[in-house]
This record gives sequence, structure tokens and C-alpha cells, in this order.
Amino acid sequence: MLIETSKKNAICFDNSYVLLGSRFYASVKPTPVERPCIVKLNYGLARDLGIDLEVIEPEALAEIFSGNQILPGSEPLAMVYAGHQFGQFVPQLGDGRAILLGEVIDNSSFRRDIQLKGAGLTPFSRQGDGRAALGPVLREYIISEAMHALGIPTTRSLGAVTTGEPVYREKVLPGAILTRVALGHVRAGTFQYFALQRDEKALTQLADYVIDRHYPVVKKVPNPYLKLLEEVMDRHARLVAQWMQVGFIHGVMNTDNMAISGETIDYGPCAFMDTFDQTKVFSSIDHMGRYAYGNQPPIVQWNLTRFAETILPLIDKIPDRAVDLAKEVIEVYPERFQDYWLSGMRRKLGLFTSESEDEALVQSLLDTMQENEADFTLTFRRLCDAALGPELEGSLRYLFKDARAYDKWALNWRVRMSHEVKTPDEHVELMRQANPAVIPRNHRVEQALEAAVEEGDYGPFEKLLEVLSSPYVEPVGHTEYMLPPKPEEHVLQTFCGT
Ligand code: AMP
Ligand code: MG
Repeated sequence: MLIETSKKNAICFDNSYVLLGSRFYASVKPTPVERPCIVKLNYGLARDLGIDLEVIEPEALAEIFSGNQILPGSEPLAMVYAGHQFGQFVPQLGDGRAILLGEVIDNSSFRRDIQLKGAGLTPFSRQGDGRAALGPVLREYIISEAMHALGIPTTRSLGAVTTGEPVYREKVLPGAILTRVALGHVRAGTFQYFALQRDEKALTQLADYVIDRHYPVVKKVPNPYLKLLEEVMDRHARLVAQWMQVGFIHGVMNTDNMAISGETIDYGPCAFMDTFDQTKVFSSIDHMGRYAYGNQPPIVQWNLTRFAETILPLIDKIPDRAVDLAKEVIEVYPERFQDYWLSGMRRKLGLFTSESEDEALVQSLLDTMQENEADFTLTFRRLCDAALGPELEGSLRYLFKDARAYDKWALNWRVRMSHEVKTPDEHVELMRQANPAVIPRNHRVEQALEAAVEEGDYGPFEKLLEVLSSPYVEPVGHTEYMLPPKPEEHVLQTFCGT
């Protein structure tokens, strides 16, 4: 009886999306699983969400995070949306394997979605089985938590359970369910779904919903929907600039994978690059390189344009005027992105001030890295030490195939640094906060997943998570996590795992 009571209070749901009405979702319960078993819980995140995991019995935890048990206050639903997948419009997608359990208000008064990913069939499952495999679940867990620790807006991972059931992909794999937490799961594709039906009432309802939830400040201006577009544009310009600064490649930036909240969402075939390469693609399904590293900024603008099209009728009743107004906002994006990107890159180079030549300095480093196959993360991290003096750049030079190419660039960098009045220590301090020592390198992620999935050994997964939780600090005694893969450790491709 005691357990029952505590379970009741474990998650205090306060649901708002369900109030939009049944056009926006399908009510559907998770399909129970055979033998749920907790493999990971995020106690820190749970505390932030006001969820007290300690009061719940371990067996009850597995029942809750597998969806076998629905807690009071939860109103499970699958959200409907459309989307452009690799440029092709699909009129109806929707949560095919994710079920929103409900929302909670976190300790900072933000509303957060609690969703199970891999929770079984929904009306939107199409040909899919509604399930997820353990490898991709752990992959999303690692990478989303790493992104958060890097300071990049992202969905979070609250827990992972194995289901005790097989899932059938190219081979038979253990099934699992991820509990994903987001500021909101409304996507550009959600707007596209209602725009396709020319359902202006639903579009207005949805726009008002995201304004209330994510952009309340826009309510104060004369044209809140235009301002909404501008704010969404701004958040995504900033987000993609942050991705670029850590070498993150999302891999599947379809409009249904673009959250209006401005969080990174849907970790499928994403990856961090080791060797710097503007054209880098990891995803096995991205044959044309649409979502290659260097294509991410313009593709975000393309996605934003698709979003803008959906709210034109809300922006202005006169279609031509609506188009002109929206265009003005979308055209600001390249400049906005550039500003975020350049100010971040200045920090990475230890620069406190702005000079007109800075962009060329950054670009010439990137070009030199590309030509000389330098490791992205390690180059910038070692540059922090080099800021103390040329005598400390030995190990950095050898990241470049031709060390003299680095020397040539570094001369210009040192001249630029000399224009600043800061001490070397101040430059280093700035740089160490902008240049992570550890990122979820592919080979480490794969090693952790392989140990967990093949051998049930979660040691490497836990260790990796621990190191990634403080990415700007060099892991004492574990500097191997900073290193690029050895030739035999290279991961060439990633898979979305659906
Ligand atoms: P994604 O590529 O993960 O963004 O998924 C694209 C669409 O396919 C979304 O509507 C997903 O819900 C759906 N989907 C992905 N995997 C599955 C699956 N195993 N079962 C059902 N639907 C899925
Ligand atoms: Mg998706």
C-alpha cells in the first residue's frame, strides 16, 4: 500500500498538449512488454523534473519506464505530424513508436514532455513495429546527454529499459525503450500537417500553443506570428552554429526532426566527426550528402522556409504581403547564423574582441585542417595550450599532415592575439570553455554499445557517460577518451536503427 501511494506521487503530470483536441494526436497506450529491466536511470535529471525515483521500488521503476504501468495523471498519446524527408514531402508521419506520457513542470518552472520511444504500435506506425533496439536507445542516451553537457539545447534522456523482447532489423536485436524528455515535441512537420489541410484554425491553435509554451515574449508585439517565425529562426541559427562548433552532424535533419522549441531532436545516425571535413557524412542513408556537416546551415534555412510557409495565413491575410514579411525574416538567417558562428569561433581561438579579418583567420584554419586531415576536437583543445606560447604547440603541430601548414597559420593567429590586452591565462580560460576535451567519439560510442548489447557489460557505457558529463575538463587518468580512433577503430558509417 505504501508503495502504491509513493508511486502515485512519483511523477506529477500536468498535461497541456492533450487539451488541443483529438485532431492533434491519437490517444494510445504503450504496448506492454515481456520482461522490462532498467539499464539506466538519470537521477540528476529526475531531480530537476521533480521526480523522486528513490521512493519507487526497483521493479515498479521498470514497469513505469517500459510503459507497462501507466501512472495516475498520465494521458498517453501519439502526436501527428507530416514532414519533408530528404526533401520529399510525406503528408502524414506522426509518432510511430513514441508515446507521450504527459508533461511535468520542472524545478525551473519549464514544462517538459516525458515520452517513451520504442513503446509499441500507434496509428502512425506505418510499416514499422513501434519498437526500438537497445543499441540505438543507448546511442541516443549517450549523445543527447553529451550534447546537454556541452551546453547545446537538446532533448534529454531520463532512462533506458530493456524489454526482454527481440526486435527484428537486419538481425535479431534486444528491444529497449528510451524515456525522452523535451521542452516540447512540436515539430516544423506538425505545422506542415495542418497547413496541408489548409486548417487555419488548427494552425492558429498550434501557433498559440508554441508561443505560450516556448516564446511567450512574442505575444507583446503587433504581429506575434511573424515574431514567432523570427524567434524560431534565431534559435535554430544559434543551434546549428553550436553544432558546427563541436563537429556535430545530425544526419537526418528532415522537417519532422526539427523541434519548434529549438532543441536538437531525434538522434538517429548522428555523429561527431574526428578528422575535419566539410563534406563529412556518416549516415548510411544520406547518399547525396544532403545533411553533410557543411550543408547543415543552409539546410536549416530550407527547413525554416518550409515552416514559414505553413504560417503565412497567420502572418497576414493578404498572401503577397505575408510572403514578403516571411521572406524578410528568412533572409536574415544567413547573417544571424554567421554572427553566432563567428562569435563562437572567436572564443575557440581565444579572441575577446572583434576584427574584420577574424572570419578569414578562422576560415584559413579550417581550410588548413581540411587539407591536412587534422582532428577537429583535438586541434582546438591543443590550441588552448598553444595560447600560452609556441613552445607548447609541439603535439598540436603533428595533428597536421604538414606541420608547416599549421605554423604558417599560427603566425597570423599570434599576431591577431597580440592585438588583445588579456593575459595568456585569460585566453586559455576562454578557450577551455569553448573547446571540449571530450566528445562522444564514434569509436568510443560503438565500443560502449557493443559491450552492452553483446555482453551485457554496461561498464564502458557508464564510464563514457561519466567522462562526457564534464566535456570541458580533461579526464584525469582517462585521457584516452580525448584521442581520435586508431586506424582499426574508425567508424565509417552510422545507421538510423529504425
Ligand atoms: P525518424 O527517422 O526516426 O525521425 O522517423 C521517421 C518516422 O518513422 C517517424 O514518423 C517515426 O515515428 C517513424 N518510425 C521510425 N521507426 C519506427 C518504427 N520502428 N516503428 C514505427 N514507426 C517508426
Ligand atoms: Mg523523427
